[in-house]
Amino acid sequence: MKFYSTRDKASRYTLKEAVLLGLAPDGGLFMPEEIPALPPAIIQNLPEMNFKEIAFELAWPFLKADFNRATVEHFMDQAFTFEAPLKPLTNDLFVLELFHGPTLAFKDFGAQFMAQLLEQMVQETGQELTILVATSGDTGSAVARGFFKKKGIQVVLLYPANRVSEIQEKQLTTIGENVTALEIDGTFDDCQRMVKQAFNDPDLREKLHLTSANSINIARLLPQTFYYAAAFAQLPPSNRAVVVSVPSGNLGNLTAGLMAQQMGIPIHQFVSALNVNDVFLHYLKSGRFNPRTAVPTISNAMDVGNPSNFDRILDLFGKNYSKIKQVIWGGRFSDAQTRQAIQWAYQKLAYLFDPHGAVGFLALQKFLKESKVDHWQAIVLATAHPAKFKVVVEQSCGQTIALPARLAETLKKPKRAELLSKHFNVFKEWLWQRVT
Ligand SMILES: *Cc1c(COP(=O)(O)O)cnc(C)c1O
Repeated sequence: MKFYSTRDKASRYTLKEAVLLGLAPDGGLFMPEEIPALPPAIIQNLPEMNFKEIAFELAWPFLKADFNRATVEHFMDQAFTFEAPLKPLTNDLFVLELFHGPTLAFKDFGAQFMAQLLEQMVQETGQELTILVATSGDTGSAVARGFFKKKGIQVVLLYPANRVSEIQEKQLTTIGENVTALEIDGTFDDCQRMVKQAFNDPDLREKLHLTSANSINIARLLPQTFYYAAAFAQLPPSNRAVVVSVPSGNLGNLTAGLMAQQMGIPIHQFVSALNVNDVFLHYLKSGRFNPRTAVPTISNAMDVGNPSNFDRILDLFGKNYSKIKQVIWGGRFSDAQTRQAIQWAYQKLAYLFDPHGAVGFLALQKFLKESKVDHWQAIVLATAHPAKFKVVVEQSCGQTIALPARLAETLKKPKRAELLSKHFNVFKEWLWQRVT
């Protein structure tokens, strides 16, 4: 399988090239040249398969030109040491828990898988890599965790001082080994600018073989298709149509779901669940896409004003607005509604959502109410563990919540970060000294 840039459908890249580049040279996003249909026999057999086997079947068509079968099986084995359980809330309402990975958020799926690919590539070429990540909190720790102890790969994390939560900071600064955290005396935008400048600096690029691992990388998108198939596999047998609600920010998760659908996973309807950063809802309603500056909310991983995977969604549907509108329904909710939903689900369903999952739950309820079809099997994606947003969740449900053991361990470890000013030259000097 080859990959093209969304800005030039005639271009072709191997998977390995696309993974190393991240973004196509023309600024477009990589897409596979075809979305292969899974054989019906495999789809029928999904309920008999475990997560790693399901992941293999979905990944193989995309990977087989670049890696052999045993290697891809090894990727799955190493990357997915955690599950994506589907929990019933009622007879026809389910939660797919995507927060059982090392950093308790769904980004672990993409980060773990991408790290396997890059480690293998470093082994094949002998070319060591440095990965630079600017993070406002969550993504950075998932990526860094994924690359923890991967041979020949150094990870440098930049995060803004005093602008991430205590839990987030501990998750970023206690990893160690090949992962270094830099606490930048500036904002997230400063961190992003510094990383961008490093990529554009010829000296650094040549010496350090810089790679980014950000969420638009195709190696982070592909593994997100796996859990849609795993969700379907865990549903009780039924001939009801399936609807999945996806808490949406950069739209990577939703894009992966649409790809899984096009591969033949029988999902009939998607719900894009948004907070007040609702650029995509506006598109669904009007056909016009008008990016805006994001505003902060309690579901902060969804605070995106210019969702980068929008072009991939257009591409998947040949830019056909009416088709997109048919498959995706959108809903938007305030922080006050999100807090109420956390409380309501806790009291009435004995289920504790994090703020992102709660937006997904709200959107699904609204869709079910407005939908003309009576019977659905409905799934909400729970993208983060409620303990990651302890303060908001405790305020909403009026209960103290226990930290999972993994998180409690992390909080006990001492913070290790180097404080650096936001000036690029200081950062360049710091990077330079690591290699010379
Ligand atoms: C990143 C993130 C999202 C948004 O996912 P996208 O793929 O960017 O749409 C939702 N919830 C959580 C917890 C996240 O970390």
